[in-house]
Amino acid sequence: MDFDALDLDAITHVFFTGAGLSAESGLPTFRGVGGLWRNYPAQQLADIRFWRQNAALVHEFYDMRRETLANVAPNAAHRAIAALGTRALNLTQNVDNLLEQAGCPNVIHLHGRLWQMHCTSCGHRWDFGLGPWRAEDCCPACGAREAVKPGVVMFNETAPEYAKLSVLSRLKPHHTFAVIGTSGAVIDVNALARACTAGRKVLNNAEASDYVEEDLFDEVYYAPTTEVITQVIGPAAAG
Ligand SMILES: [Zn+2]
Repeated sequence: MDFDALDLDAITHVFFTGAGLSAESGLPTFRGVGGLWRNYPAQQLADIRFWRQNAALVHEFYDMRRETLANVAPNAAHRAIAALGTRALNLTQNVDNLLEQAGCPNVIHLHGRLWQMHCTSCGHRWDFGLGPWRAEDCCPACGAREAVKPGVVMFNETAPEYAKLSVLSRLKPHHTFAVIGTSGAVIDVNALARACTAGRKVLNNAEASDYVEEDLFDEVYYAPTTEVITQVIGPAAAG
């Protein structure tokens, strides 16, 4: 999608989504208590500083995550969002491609894409697919091997796509802003909700979070997303 050419008047829904959206597809979040892989906390495996010292191990961790992604499918919430077609803009923290698999045309990946690789030597990003990273793999642009990392935004790495969150302050009364499946621990959901000028603001999480002020939202649903997605999307979905 060409974000700069996006016609906001043609958009009815802007979704800000997190791991909770994909959890019902069977994708683990790797963030909660006990989020360990081979006794390493997921938070450490997803840290750029750890990758610099342990690239092979980090690649193995992401090999496993891509393999997991290859074995899941979009759920009813992904499909309901996709049914809005070009009327939906997705700002997602998720690195999976389930929104795309469901058919969503407008998806911004704030934290990168699990199915891509990123060469830190030349900056090239490319679609790698969901298979494992092998020792003989290299950057197709410059040939670098050790400089190649998973195409996701790691901890202690900048997230250039965050600049696109400023779109929220350009929304109009006809827009719905829906926050789905995010605890607000990584990106400040309260700040987004305050800056957002949409006419209707909706929150849907599995449970209340210490990081999210529900008073900032017009409607709050604490329930699995697949059960409440119709209410989250609301009456504007018709037509
Ligand atoms: Zn390169």
